[in-house]
Amino acid sequence: MKKSSFLTFFCFLFTAIIGWSQTTEEIVAAIEKEAIENSQLEQLAYELMDYNGPRLVGTPQMKSAHDWAVNTYKKWGISAENQQWGTWRGWERGITHVDMVSPRVASLHATQLAWNPSTGKKGVTAELIILPKVSDSLAFAKWLPNVKGKIVMVSMPQPTGRPDENWEKFATEASFAKMKKEREALEKEWRENMENTGYSSRTINKALEKAGAVGIAQSRWSKGFGANKIFSAGTDKIPVVDISLEDYGMLYRMVEHGAKPEIKIVAESKELGEVPTFNTIATIPGTELPDEYVILSAHFDSWDGATGATDNGTGTITMLEAARILKKVYPNPKRTIIIGHWGSEEQGLNGSRAFVEDNPKIVAGLQALFNQDNGTGRVVRISGQGFLHSYAYLGKWLEAVPKAYKNEIETTFPGAPGGGGSDYASFVAAGAPAFSLSSLSWDYWNYTWHTNLDTYDKIVFDDVRNNAILTAILTYMACEDPERTSREKAVLGTNPRTGEQREWPTPRSPNRRGGLD
Ligand SMILES: [Zn+2]
Repeated sequence: MKKSSFLTFFCFLFTAIIGWSQTTEEIVAAIEKEAIENSQLEQLAYELMDYNGPRLVGTPQMKSAHDWAVNTYKKWGISAENQQWGTWRGWERGITHVDMVSPRVASLHATQLAWNPSTGKKGVTAELIILPKVSDSLAFAKWLPNVKGKIVMVSMPQPTGRPDENWEKFATEASFAKMKKEREALEKEWRENMENTGYSSRTINKALEKAGAVGIAQSRWSKGFGANKIFSAGTDKIPVVDISLEDYGMLYRMVEHGAKPEIKIVAESKELGEVPTFNTIATIPGTELPDEYVILSAHFDSWDGATGATDNGTGTITMLEAARILKKVYPNPKRTIIIGHWGSEEQGLNGSRAFVEDNPKIVAGLQALFNQDNGTGRVVRISGQGFLHSYAYLGKWLEAVPKAYKNEIETTFPGAPGGGGSDYASFVAAGAPAFSLSSLSWDYWNYTWHTNLDTYDKIVFDDVRNNAILTAILTYMACEDPERTSREKAVLGTNPRTGEQREWPTPRSPNRRGGLD
């Protein structure tokens, strides 16, 4: 080699090395700039939560959300499609209106539960009745005919509508302790009495329906001001409504005092037969290693007591925004980027389990998956999910993340494989490196998780922006990594509860035909 060409070669090599490291820094800076200066999070949240609304599997709003996601990706030049993986009972929520009509008139804060049949426009008007104290199931069976023509109150009346932190702040120590003791005694008595009936809170609705009750009123308080959890009904013909703690308590006391309150339930839902159900899958093809994948993952469905803003609207818009940013600043990834918006996570990880079952090649080629699904907060925990060498690659990728987005993150390596809880578990069970970006709580469990309060106003956009930047950088690093990630499993310790050796979770099949007999 001539001296001059040697110099040229050396210069080339030098700029190549510097160039690469500059590129990483430049890309990270470009991700931050795009996320901060051109954030689409507020717009996405408005369109998904406020305009589209809740995303219960089998509802037309779930389908319209899937179509919205595909169109949104198209606008950004990212190809996306809805992939059908099963069918579900089609149902649509209509007007719910619940009023006390006697001895005085008052509109009540109440919601029909999911997949509950319609009352028609006329509704159902009837007197309320509470469960009796019984010594055994025989005594309960003897009492059961009393429910004929009545609306039955099946939840324990709460002694206080103030959350514990409110008591802690204002009550005397003695009175807080007294309230808790009384509440515990009441809960114990309620539990024992329910056992005596021969039913559980899950099975009693059907028995009451069979005995001629014309409706069921429950109140599933979520231990926060105004917060109730809203799930599904569990009856075939009669309405089941959840009533706010405040209104439920009032009605219960009126029954106890012999005031014979009557309520009117109008709940005009629609049955829509068997409907197809989907995952939305978006793809940015890889240029060098197209058969290796980095997946951004967040379930797309929600319960429908509110608009599913933090479960899982925030995880959804995090992944959408990260994908948008990556398409702009890193349009030709080395590995293929897939964004998975799963359906029916809430009924048992069904969408992601179906994807794992239907796409063995993608699962085999998975470099890493990042899932987010526990509220609006900044990511503060990442576990290696039991993969022995996860520290090496996750640690390396995290190094590229500016301190501001990672200094609160606590990592656990190798950690233990998640057996459920959210969609990463579907991939972990198949032995593929999938991780949960776990958020700070912001009172998720009491206030927004599956409640009537899970709405746009609970979103903390700065935290979600933080998570979109973190996700985009981790994705970029996982795509560019010269090495494939190791799938070697750590030896799992013993379960402290049972003393038995822990086992790696095994893949489970999804329910591909839900809510239909
Ligand atoms: Zn969720």
